[in-house]
Amino acid sequence: MDQTWEVLIPADEIAREVRALGAELAELYEGSRPVVIPLLRGAFMFAADLVRAMRTDVQIEFLGAASYGEQTSSSGEVRLTLDTTLPLSGRDVLLVEDIVDTGLTLAYIQKLIASRGPASLRTVALLDKRARRRVEAQVDRAVFQIPDRFVFGYGLDSPGGFGRNLPDIVALK
Ligand code: IMP
Repeated sequence: MDQTWEVLIPADEIAREVRALGAELAELYEGSRPVVIPLLRGAFMFAADLVRAMRTDVQIEFLGAASYGEQTSSSGEVRLTLDTTLPLSGRDVLLVEDIVDTGLTLAYIQKLIASRGPASLRTVALLDKRARRRVEAQVDRAVFQIPDRFVFGYGLDSPGGFGRNLPDIVALK
């Protein structure tokens, strides 16, 4: 059977870049004990690697979001599927996102977190499809810029619901 996907970013390249970002963030947050919030489900693998590369104390909370829409693009109508439990007021918050596409999900989540009065809010994204942006959402650091292609693996889901546990980031052919 012909494989319908190809490797876009191999696991070793992801590991190298995520380790570098972790070291940068550890320095930035030294002594402040940030609340790291992976946005589930897609960011779980990226966040697990990122926090292990951050050699500084952190707390971890989770937010879950899903957006209604077509299988390969979001409608902008975001649904919260899981909320944080710690108060975020006065805390340094680091939001960890898998991929920013139209920006609608991120804009919604950032507004929600901002309403809780954190001392600071930064967003890191593993992947950025800049060409697809429909609303401006603040991405402080994107690990990889990618073209407008549907990708999955390394935590990201495919329309068929397979591939989330692939070690590489792959793209549909
Ligand atoms: P946005 O709201 O359009 O920016 O979409 C963000 C969300 O849509 C991400 O958190 C992903 O869950 C999903 N998404 C967007 N593009 C892709 C993709 O290429 N592969 C897998 N999920 C994607």
